[in-house]
Amino acid sequence: MNKLNVYYHPSSLEHKGFPGFAERPARLKKLTAIFNEMSLPVIQPNGATEAMLHRAHTPEYVAHVKSIGEKGLIRATAANITSNHVQWYTRVSKGSYKAATDAAGAVCQAVEDTLSGKCNRAFCAVRPPGHHAGPERGEGFCLFNNVAVGALHALESGAQRVAIIDFDRHHGNGTQDIVEKGGGGKILFVSSYQDGCKYNRNDTEGRISPEVLTVPLPENSGFTTVEALFRQQVIPALYEFKPDIILISAGFDMHKSDPLTNLKLESKDYETLTGMIVDAANNLCQGRVVSALEGGYELKALESCVRHHLTALNR
Ligand SMILES: [Zn+2]
Repeated sequence: MNKLNVYYHPSSLEHKGFPGFAERPARLKKLTAIFNEMSLPVIQPNGATEAMLHRAHTPEYVAHVKSIGEKGLIRATAANITSNHVQWYTRVSKGSYKAATDAAGAVCQAVEDTLSGKCNRAFCAVRPPGHHAGPERGEGFCLFNNVAVGALHALESGAQRVAIIDFDRHHGNGTQDIVEKGGGGKILFVSSYQDGCKYNRNDTEGRISPEVLTVPLPENSGFTTVEALFRQQVIPALYEFKPDIILISAGFDMHKSDPLTNLKLESKDYETLTGMIVDAANNLCQGRVVSALEGGYELKALESCVRHHLTALNR
């Protein structure tokens, strides 16, 4: 059994925005060198089937993404998209549908391999990211919700309870919507985010339902604050829920260099943070953790954060 597998498909580089767009192919290009350097097995995943996508997204939405991708529209503005399925800011290019289905498929395959014991942990180096994509809507940089599709696939593959930890700087509003709509109480969603995040549309914060815990992080927090909130709120929620597998929406935009955020984490803090989740997984679910890339937009910081994240997953 491999301890840590990586799932990566070159199609992820064919999802394009426009020059200067923060969520860009270069984010992934450099990561492949780290996988080689750490001698991690890199698996090219199969794309998610429509049936897998339909567990999280409506057939109409999936078909819509496919059709606008075929038109090759780089920018989904109100002028050239006649439905409200995709936010104006969200980019859809010719390669996007394949990249997005391969991204969701990567998490499904990683979940299967982890549950069946082919590996103990997995990192999915994917784009487009997924956590803002809801049942019938693409938003932010996200088209299909890779982690939510993976969590629902885990339930289909024999897991009884799945926990999702989203430590991206932004709230995973799409994941929350899918979990509330289709999780059946078998998925716990925990999301930390910088306080005031525009994607958080909940009226309250904290334990807003049995299946959703939100953890706002005060602006300009360093790791001392973030670590304390994880120890006090996130990790205890995992122990209470007792998952069979833990999925991570791994956004690295809490880093102090990230252009989109005001949090102050150092790269090495992601090793500590990931290690806390790995320790819980070792105690609760035979170490099973599947992580999927979400945000992180400063290339040097992203590279170094992912290196620390993988080091903790590979322990
Ligand atoms: Zn983010």
